Amino acid sequence: MAVGSLGIQPIIGLEVHVQLATRTKLWCGCELVFGAPPNERVCPVCLGLPGALPALNRQAVELSILAGLALNCQIAPETRWDRKSYYYPDLPKNYQISQYDQPLCFDGYFELPHDGAIRKVRIRRAHVEEDAGKNTHELERGTGVDLNRAGTPLLEIVTEPDLRSADEAREFAAQLQRLVKYLRVSNANMQMGQMRFEPNVNLSIRQDGREHRTPIVEVKNLNSFRALHGAIAHEIRRQQEAWLETGEAARVGNKLNRGWDDQREVTVPQREKEEAHDYRYFPDPDLLPVRIDAAHVAELREHMPELPLPRTERFISEYKLPACDAPALVDCRATAELLDDAAEAGGDRPTLGRHFLSFWAKLANERETTIAGIGVCARHMAALANLAREGQVNATAAAQIAGVMAERADQLLAGRRRPSEAECGAAFEQFDGDGLDPLAIAREQRLLQSRDEDQIAAWVRAALDANEPAVRDALENPKKIDKARGFLAGQVMKLSRGQADPRLVSELIEARLAALAKEPE
Ligand code: ZN
Ligand code: MN
Repeated sequence: MAVGSLGIQPIIGLEVHVQLATRTKLWCGCELVFGAPPNERVCPVCLGLPGALPALNRQAVELSILAGLALNCQIAPETRWDRKSYYYPDLPKNYQISQYDQPLCFDGYFELPHDGAIRKVRIRRAHVEEDAGKNTHELERGTGVDLNRAGTPLLEIVTEPDLRSADEAREFAAQLQRLVKYLRVSNANMQMGQMRFEPNVNLSIRQDGREHRTPIVEVKNLNSFRALHGAIAHEIRRQQEAWLETGEAARVGNKLNRGWDDQREVTVPQREKEEAHDYRYFPDPDLLPVRIDAAHVAELREHMPELPLPRTERFISEYKLPACDAPALVDCRATAELLDDAAEAGGDRPTLGRHFLSFWAKLANERETTIAGIGVCARHMAALANLAREGQVNATAAAQIAGVMAERADQLLAGRRRPSEAECGAAFEQFDGDGLDPLAIAREQRLLQSRDEDQIAAWVRAALDANEPAVRDALENPKKIDKARGFLAGQVMKLSRGQADPRLVSELIEARLAALAKEPE
C-alpha cells in the first residue's frame, strides 16, 4: 500500500481465546452448560471461596496438546500455573490462573494459504487459562454477576506479528476455527462466545528511506470475523491519519487498548494497556507443576487425524471435487470420514464426490443435519455410486434411490434426534441393513436400466414403425436430422419407461436407420 511517497505495511498479530470442549470446568467438577440460569453452575472452587482448592482437569490439557501439535508447536515437558492479579467482580478470587513464562505449547507455525501463496504465521505460544464470569448491566436494579462461566477452560493462542492485512487476519482466524472444531478441541461457536479475538495492530511507514512504526494498538474482545476484519481495517486507516497528524512513533509504554463499536464500525479508546509487571504474576502455590510424558505426546501425535487443509487438497485430486466445494465436505470431520470410508469400501471416487455434493448434501439439508447424520452407511453409499458408474441406474434414478435410502434411515432412527451440522464431533448412527441396499431398491422401484439388446431393439422397432414422418426426416431432411433422432430416442425411452440405457438406445436407433436406408423403397 502506498500513499503519496509513503510505503505503508500493516503489522498484525493475533491473540485468540478458544473455549476448550471439556465436559467440566478447569479446576472443579461444575459442568459447562450454555444458557443455564445465573449462578447455577458454581461451587466453592469457581466461586473463589477461601480455602477451596483447585484440581486440574486432565482433558483440558490433552485437548490443548492436540491443538498445539496441529499448530506445529513444541510441547513443554514441564509446565506450571501462575496467578495473574485481576480485580474485577467477575473473578472473585482476585486473580486468574493462567500460564506466564512456561506455556504448555510454544514456537509453532501455521501455513496459511492466502491469495495463491502460503503465508507462514508463527505461533508464539498457546497456554491454558480460566475464563472469568460475566457482569450483567441490564438488570432493573444495578449490575449483577453470573459466575457460571468462571473457571471455564480456555486456550489462548498467540501469533507473532506475521499477518499483513485485515483479509489475511480474517482468513487465519477462519482456518483456526476450522482446525479446532475439526480436532474437537473446541466447538468455537462465536455466538456463544467460544472464540474471541484480540488483534495487535501497528504500521511500518517508510518515508525518505527511513522506517517509522506507529504505536501498537490492541483491540479487545472481538467475537466475530466481521468485527475482527472491521477493527483491523479501521485501525490501519486511523493510525495512518494519526501518524500524518502527530508523527507519534511506537515506544515502550505507549501501547494502547481500544474497543470495537459494532454500530459505528470504529475502534474507540479504552483503559491504558497494562504491562506484564502490573499483573504481578507469580506461581500458584496451590497447584503443582505438570509434567508431560513424552510418550503420551508421541501417542497423541500418532493418532492425529489428517488435518483440514491437506485433506481438502487430497479431496480435490482424489474425488475430482471443484476447489470451491471441497472445503464444505472436509469441515464436518464425520462426513469427510464417511466419504473416505465409502471409497475404502470400493466406491468409485469421482462418482462418490459428485453424489456427496449433489443429492446426499440435499438430503442432509432437508433433515437439518450433515451427510453423516442421514444415517446411511458407507458400504451402501459405495454400492449406489458403483450402480451409477456402471450405468445400471441413470443420474435421476440414483438420486431417487438415495431418497428412498434416506427415508428408510429416517424410519430406523424412529424420531430420535440426529446431531446437527455444528456437532460434527458427535457420534452418528449409520445403518447397513438390507432394506437400505441400493440394488434391492432399484429392482423394487423398477429403476434399473435395461441393457438387454433384444428388448431395446424391439422398443426401437416399435417406436420407428409408429413414427414414420420422423424416420423420413431423420434419413432425408438435413435440416431436421438431429431433431428427429432426438425425438425418436425420446419415444424409445418412453416405451421402456425410462429403463433403457440411453447409450444403447442411440446405438440401436442408428443401426435401424442405417438398415432402413438400404432397404429398397
Ligand atoms: Zn465449580
Ligand atoms: Mn488471556
